[in-house]
Amino acid sequence: MIRVKQTEGEQMHYRVADAGNPYEAIVASFAMKVAVAELKIEAPKLCFVQNTIKSCADLETREDIIGLARGGGKQIFVRTGLDHKNLVDTIFHECRHAMQFQRGITFNREHRERDARIYALELMTKIGDPPEWRVLEFLTKKLNEKGL
Ligand SMILES: [Zn+2]
Repeated sequence: MIRVKQTEGEQMHYRVADAGNPYEAIVASFAMKVAVAELKIEAPKLCFVQNTIKSCADLETREDIIGLARGGGKQIFVRTGLDHKNLVDTIFHECRHAMQFQRGITFNREHRERDARIYALELMTKIGDPPEWRVLEFLTKKLNEKGL
């Protein structure tokens, strides 16, 4: 989970949505491919979500979130409308949680979050820490290197 803020018990509601634009969908799918290959995990299903009201919700949380892994690491939710770098960082982070769940790693919550944050930073460094406007290019380069 990547949290935006604690909402003091108030439920937050999200609905599954299309990516905000075609580039967002491409950046997300490339980031997923890189992380899945690096982590050697089963590819989680990626869903974009946006805020909604309770009656339209596909997902509820007790915190305001931009990313979430669920279903034993088989599904990842990411907010639409993130800048590319934030989107990639969120996907790397949530893929690490997916790995934790898929492998049954039993860290406490603080430990899980720290592990996911560090992993996302490391993987961003591994792809060359691209500036915002070159994220897609750097992801593509990494995928080509790996023959993906
Ligand atoms: Zn997290």
